[in-house]
Amino acid sequence: MKKLIQLCILTLSVFAFGQNTYLHCGKLIDTKEGKVLTNKTIIVSGKKILSVEDGFVGPKTPEDIVIDLKDKTVMPGLTDMHVHMEMETSPNAYSEGFSLNDADFAFKSLHNAEVTLMAGFTTVRDLGGSGINVSLRNAINQGLVVGPRIFTAEKSLATTGDHADPTNGTNKELMGDPGPKEGVVNGVEDAAKAVRQRYKNGADLIKITATGGVLSVAKSGQNPQFTVEEIKAICDTAKDYGFHVAAHAHGDEGMQRAILGGVKTIEHGTLMSNETMELMKKHDAYLVPTITAGKTVADNAKIEGYYPEVVVPKALEIGPKIQDTFGRAYKKGVGIVFGTDAGVFFHGENGREFAYMVEAGMPAMKSIQSATITPAVILKMEQEIGQINPGFFADIIATHDDPTINIKTMEAVAFVMKEGKVYKN
Ligand SMILES: [Zn+2]
Repeated sequence: MKKLIQLCILTLSVFAFGQNTYLHCGKLIDTKEGKVLTNKTIIVSGKKILSVEDGFVGPKTPEDIVIDLKDKTVMPGLTDMHVHMEMETSPNAYSEGFSLNDADFAFKSLHNAEVTLMAGFTTVRDLGGSGINVSLRNAINQGLVVGPRIFTAEKSLATTGDHADPTNGTNKELMGDPGPKEGVVNGVEDAAKAVRQRYKNGADLIKITATGGVLSVAKSGQNPQFTVEEIKAICDTAKDYGFHVAAHAHGDEGMQRAILGGVKTIEHGTLMSNETMELMKKHDAYLVPTITAGKTVADNAKIEGYYPEVVVPKALEIGPKIQDTFGRAYKKGVGIVFGTDAGVFFHGENGREFAYMVEAGMPAMKSIQSATITPAVILKMEQEIGQINPGFFADIIATHDDPTINIKTMEAVAFVMKEGKVYKN
């Protein structure tokens, strides 16, 4: 009884003296029902949403704050399921690996994290870097620097010479023989060891590069680069640590092996056959489209000297196909979760992806759901992010226009709040 009284006093004092924020929303997107609601007030207390009220409710105490978003469309903070915080496209990107130090990449990542949050992305999945992404996540969580909530794969897993082999394209002296510690695996034992090493290094999930890729200094952009046994060993080990596995894949064979091996998301999915689309549905795997990256690499490949020579034909061939594949997969009923591959294009431009998705045939509301409720499920945060509901994190953004009428409004958001703190207004 005494405990109960103490709890009541504590709760009352929070309501009586705590400063709450009242967001007056002209329009509010209900991501669960896929509806645009009008004239609502979101009351935020601390890091969480306290309640959502009909009409414009006034503040209760002089300390309370009112934010007027009556001429805006309000929605939950967005999630980009495929970014690289440590890198950003530049004609010097390849030589920087030799000239810059980790500290340089760390400072760049601070900028990348900040512009991502300002673009309305309050959560991201970082699909591969050197491990600076783990430190960045920790610094953001500690409130030392500004950025989205990060789920990081730390270093991507590759096989020798595969897309994410860190010593591709170097001379033999620099090439050495990277192993599981460096994220390079050959065989099932290596595969398990590499996953365990990622756990030890502080990763939240696992990323593999199941096929060749566009930007690596290697010949094929699409051949399979893991056996199904290796992928299965990775996925099985990942499960022990509560990790899901994301697989970069352009070619169809590598994609099928990844799905059969147990990965949760296929990144890019460029040359996906109808058969593979059926396989994805059967195994409850999701496609992360990255259309913006596909279009960007195709554009940059036309600028002489922007990419190494071996990259150019791959970029021209693979880049432009991604949007079409996305459109076909969506129409076939494949699960879609929003992701852009930001870093391959400029961070902060993640919102471009929405208009490309709509252009390929996805309704605007579905594209917003793919960046809110769907990623929340994959990240096991469906009771915390992706919806404006009592008890959820106060990750809230607003756009100037209603995106169901003008999807391009997603490219310049007007308001950003993360965990109750306003970053942009
Ligand atoms: Zn990527």
